[in-house]
Amino acid sequence: MEKIALVTGASRGIGRAIAAQLAREGWAVCINYSTHPLPAQELEQQLTDQGCRCMVAQADVSDSAAVAAMVRDIEHRWGPVSLLVNNAGISGQMLFQDVTPQLWRRMFAVNVDGAYHTIQAVLPGMLHHHQGTIVNISSIWGLRAASCEVAYSCTKAAIVGLTRSLAAELAPSGIRVNAVAPGVIATDMLQELPEGTLPQLEAETPLGRLGTPQDIAQAVSFLADDTRSGFLTGQILTADGGFTL
Ligand code: NAP
Repeated sequence: MEKIALVTGASRGIGRAIAAQLAREGWAVCINYSTHPLPAQELEQQLTDQGCRCMVAQADVSDSAAVAAMVRDIEHRWGPVSLLVNNAGISGQMLFQDVTPQLWRRMFAVNVDGAYHTIQAVLPGMLHHHQGTIVNISSIWGLRAASCEVAYSCTKAAIVGLTRSLAAELAPSGIRVNAVAPGVIATDMLQELPEGTLPQLEAETPLGRLGTPQDIAQAVSFLADDTRSGFLTGQILTADGGFTL
């Protein structure tokens, strides 16, 4: 199978670093985004200028038809997706009693249904070739308590369950499924945190700094590479500077 990767939510933040890392490692990379085309197109240009193979694809991962169409387009242009990185995600800070049904549904639609849609779309190609790798992006808040982020935490815990169970189901088909659980990573997502929270989180991190998108890209690169991680499946790789120790 050719090295063809789909990274969801790759226009900004962690996904952007993952897409760039994989492209530099020789993967043809589809840069998915939902609402902001400019950063996605800018990344495509940068990587193309560096001699990498990439394309941009708009699709809201919560929309199964849009995801299916995106995957059909990649397969039509390049061939079957051999690496799927489920990175697209949204978060939100609020008291549990303020979580409306709409907010709850949207969080699950993007963070959980999104992964379901992309996996369903790429799986026939992987099963056909008896090969493939899936890396899901969970969070430390899917592993430990997150006050005022109950909905987000539930979706990220669901990704842990998805990763482990699907890994067990797909291992006999030669497909590995792992996850990365990032700690606190400096991206736009942190902008919604109340003032003063970031220095506090930084101080609570044993390695003494916030994580960077590149830290997570390196972890994904490792899990994507059959040579380095070929015997790993169903694992949740925590990349958090020791935050959860
Ligand atoms: P970010 O900076 O807010 O970027 C989010 C990315 O996801 C953007 O490219 C955005 O595209 C895309 N996206 C959002 N909704 C989408 C949808 N419905 N369909 C397709 N793409 C969508 O977030 P980030 O911090 O890089 O987070 C990336 C992942 O890491 C998320 O799953 C997040 O939960 C997880 N994570 C982050 C942290 C952290 O501290 N930052 C920690 C643990 C886990 P548009 O701009 O086009 O909307």
